[in-house]
Amino acid sequence: MDETQPTKQPETAPESPYRREFLWAMGGLGAATAAALAGWGSLELMVPAGTADDWHKSTCRFCGNGCTIRVGMRDGAIVDIRGHESGHNQGVICVKGSMLRALPHIEGRLTKPMIRNNGRMVEASWDEALDLVAGKFKEVRDAHGPDALAFYGSGQLYTEESYTANKLFKAGLRTNNVDGNPRLCMASAAAGYVSVFGKDEPPGSYEDIDHADLFFIFGANPYECHPPLFERIQRRKALHREAFIICVDPRRSETAKRSDLHLPVVPGTDLLLLNAMAQVILHDGLADLAFIDKHLAFQNAGQSADLAAFRTFLQDYTPEKVEARLGIGADLIRHVAHRFARARASMSLWTMGVNQRTQGTALNIMLNTLHLLTGQICRPGATPFSVTGQPNACGGVRDTGSLSHLLPNGRLVANAEHRAEVEKLWGVPAGTISPKPGHHAVELFRAMEDGRVKAALIMCTNPAQSMPDSDRYTAAMAKCFTVVSEIVADSETAKTASVLLPAALWVEKEGVLGQGERRYQLVEKLLDPPGEARSDLWILVELAKRLGHGDLIKAQTAAEVWEEWRHFSAHSYYNFEGMTRDRLQREPGLQWPCPTEDHPGTVRRYVEGDDPFVSAGAGVQFYGRKDKRAMVSFCPYVPSPEQRSDERPLYLTTGRVLEQWHTGTMTQRIDELRGASGPARFIVSEVDARQRGVESGDLIAVASRFGEVVGRAVIDREMRPGLLFAAFYDAKLLVNRVVADHVDPVSREPEYKLTAVQFRKAEA
Ligand code: SF4
Repeated sequence: MDETQPTKQPETAPESPYRREFLWAMGGLGAATAAALAGWGSLELMVPAGTADDWHKSTCRFCGNGCTIRVGMRDGAIVDIRGHESGHNQGVICVKGSMLRALPHIEGRLTKPMIRNNGRMVEASWDEALDLVAGKFKEVRDAHGPDALAFYGSGQLYTEESYTANKLFKAGLRTNNVDGNPRLCMASAAAGYVSVFGKDEPPGSYEDIDHADLFFIFGANPYECHPPLFERIQRRKALHREAFIICVDPRRSETAKRSDLHLPVVPGTDLLLLNAMAQVILHDGLADLAFIDKHLAFQNAGQSADLAAFRTFLQDYTPEKVEARLGIGADLIRHVAHRFARARASMSLWTMGVNQRTQGTALNIMLNTLHLLTGQICRPGATPFSVTGQPNACGGVRDTGSLSHLLPNGRLVANAEHRAEVEKLWGVPAGTISPKPGHHAVELFRAMEDGRVKAALIMCTNPAQSMPDSDRYTAAMAKCFTVVSEIVADSETAKTASVLLPAALWVEKEGVLGQGERRYQLVEKLLDPPGEARSDLWILVELAKRLGHGDLIKAQTAAEVWEEWRHFSAHSYYNFEGMTRDRLQREPGLQWPCPTEDHPGTVRRYVEGDDPFVSAGAGVQFYGRKDKRAMVSFCPYVPSPEQRSDERPLYLTTGRVLEQWHTGTMTQRIDELRGASGPARFIVSEVDARQRGVESGDLIAVASRFGEVVGRAVIDREMRPGLLFAAFYDAKLLVNRVVADHVDPVSREPEYKLTAVQFRKAEA
């Protein structure tokens, strides 16, 4: 059987599994598959609305895979979408990308500014809306200080937009209350990289998939969430028989079903596995001691340490000591550690199962550490790789420093030298940038709740659906003067707005997206936005003028901002000064560092001959830290604050499904995708369902100490007892209402993956 094709799972599949398989095949294999599938009777789905006579290189709007695409146009309309053969995705796109042509036409587009008046939203002109916003922001700042203002952005804004918002708020309005939804999905990955390498962003690339022979997929479900990436892994396996896939996931996900080895760890205990693997690697002589000696440093709780101390620390994590809590036998732990270390090239890939945890930073540090201990890094196929969820969380937010503790290119708000550098580059007086880090996402919404933040601009994101404990933070937004830039008038967040600003989306505006492998790609404007919708950059520029910061925000078009930003980057190791607009127009993306206009971009960081910052003769050099060594930190296992009990004996975990993206603001409005996924449901085990007299299709009430949500249950025979799963794309099953809002103490990322719950059968 071809393993790239999903098997039918009647218990777990949506209403039309046949249709779902078809759509997957369409997205995954493109038009070549169409003829073979024509007999399925769903041909109308893949027949373009018209035949394109004009093709444009572009980038998919949805996930962090950042697939390069070709947009087919005819008579000024998009009629076809194809994967771009020259892109890193090698022509492969998923079903969401294949349906992009429907995106500009989704129902409910917001086409005029709206202002709340006596509880009702009424249409306004742009001048009325922006004058109101600027007036209110000035009033709040004058009465309560700059930290009563905030910006909450998105890994979906274009780089030029995030950069401009960050500059306006930090150097213009003088508050560091700039955060955004990347805090919810990849702050732990960034914190892990910075802790280990001194700099954010991955050392390797997707291209490493073509060289790896062990894939260690940890807390990720790429079959559904990053299909071209998983298809590339499958292709590697087909061409290279020894390639082996290990999937670590408490849930038997679609990826786990297609892996060679699935490790169904007890939810929340996986740091025990990583520490135990490190213990085995050092104990069984699997470590690359020469690499360790040359390239690593050690620390324990901020104090300098050494390899001997690390070995001693790991004695608490021998396989025998962790197996009962982890739910994986000692022999199997040893087997996995040996496979990882002995493989010719091991590649780890992880996403939200690792990041959205109260020990997310520790998990990230240890995943990177396993590669360092074994020398499975800085070689083709040997690399740790945090896969990202949003199309521009890396380029737009992490790289521009658009989080509350950051400044551009890895600089820190709390570092006086960094502030001075940025002030000089932005041409503002010394002392302009506040030394106080702003509020991280959860704290920002708490500050709206208790009045510390009184006015906020929210752009290109839907926190009323995506925040954990979402009822609480939705109420907080409603208390505050919230200005929401949105594409539709009825997202959960739009419903709380004081002012709604109609936003252009995807190819209705121009900008650069930076995906998960340090690759920047240009999206050119191909369509006019509907009605009076405008780009978020235009909104920020107009607002800056009204706030008296027109001199600061001089760059007013995407091209002008990009010129400023690429020159700014030259003063850092994130250097992409060589990425001119012209090159981005011609080439299917470039990876930084890329310091000069003739530099080809960097596939593998920290490697001499590839990365321009590595000193001659060094071979490998972790130059992000002053001592040019990667740092291994001791990471003790700490159980999650959410523990199961008699009252709440199950864990709820959340995630995504193949056809839907994040809160569904876009994909839920595309008929084919909505029809293929069906409504969101709670996936429950047979045992848990039987104990409660629940059948597939029954309504169940799922309760945590944060709230209760009612939705339909689907029984999955492969679901482990004691675990429930629900995707968060469906506002009708707003699962984040019951999700815990505990955060990682370092990254401040919430622990979406673990909430103690109970469920019961509910009445219709
Ligand atoms: S949704 Fe992600 S994987 Fe699918 S086509 Fe778009 S970028 Fe690629």
